[in-house]
Amino acid sequence: MPSISFEFFPPKTDEQRAQLDQAATLLKSLSPEYVSVTFGAGGSTLSYTGETVARLHGNHGLNVAPHLSCVGGTRAELAELLDAYRAAGYRRLVALRGDLPSGMASPGDFRYASELVRFIREYTGDHFHIEVAAYPETHPQADDALADLRHFKAKVDAGANGAITQYFFNADAYFRFVDDVRRLGVEVPIVPGIMPISNFSQLKRFSDQCGAEIPRWIVKRMQAHGDDAASVRELGADVVAEMCRRLLDGGAPGLHFYTLNRARATQAVLNRLHS
Ligand code: FAD
Repeated sequence: MPSISFEFFPPKTDEQRAQLDQAATLLKSLSPEYVSVTFGAGGSTLSYTGETVARLHGNHGLNVAPHLSCVGGTRAELAELLDAYRAAGYRRLVALRGDLPSGMASPGDFRYASELVRFIREYTGDHFHIEVAAYPETHPQADDALADLRHFKAKVDAGANGAITQYFFNADAYFRFVDDVRRLGVEVPIVPGIMPISNFSQLKRFSDQCGAEIPRWIVKRMQAHGDDAASVRELGADVVAEMCRRLLDGGAPGLHFYTLNRARATQAVLNRLHS
């Protein structure tokens, strides 16, 4: 089995912390190479990421990769975080631009993730393995798809070791993206980000926001199951596992699962892959 990794978000209540602990315990048994923790741009959400990576590392013994987004942040703030992560012994980061929360006026000292990657390399040398984001279906704010490919390459040229993609449900988009950036000279591993399907209406809303396309045939099949949650989960696990198998057969170097802090949907996909 190629390398797998799991993404979590920072819980904010005791109930959510208990849910994360449960998911981390179950998913740890699947031997992830690392787990990553998302970063909310600006303000108090910063500390939740630090608290959550410490929990996953300290209490669960997992290899962690905090996400770090630069939008709205200053050089000094990011240097402080890098110092803290280095002191804690973490060796991996996911470096992002992030999105400016509504109402937050200042974009901060960095405009793009490539500038953040360059800064991390200048400030910490080769200490961290840096992953960046990739968009097989094109980032929603990109000027155009070709410009987006060049901007992706700029992040790798700035020092990224690898990339994790936005989730998608169309394996061809991934293969095409990889071919295109290889032609531009990008050689780092590009790991598909996988969104297991559990709550379809939530997924549809979220996908509209982040520009991930759900193929019509999947939407139609899901809608036909309506409120039958068990059937939605079964179909979702089948569809996503089939896509994962195609990705791996086609050369994807690993799989990164967006767990949403729950184990069941991710386990269902991995169980099918192992069978
Ligand atoms: P960039 O690579 O900087 O690209 C952003 C846009 O700017 C693109 O359209 C790109 O084409 C364009 N661009 C880049 N460089 C230039 C240039 N020189 N000139 C003109 N245009 C340019 N968000 C969070 O807030 N927290 C998280 O923890 C988080 N984790 C994520 C994990 C993964 C694996 C992925 C795929 C996304 C994640 N996101 C997260 C979402 C991400 O922050 C948003 O998609 C954001 O809008 C872009 O971030 P980026 O790092 O891809 O930005």
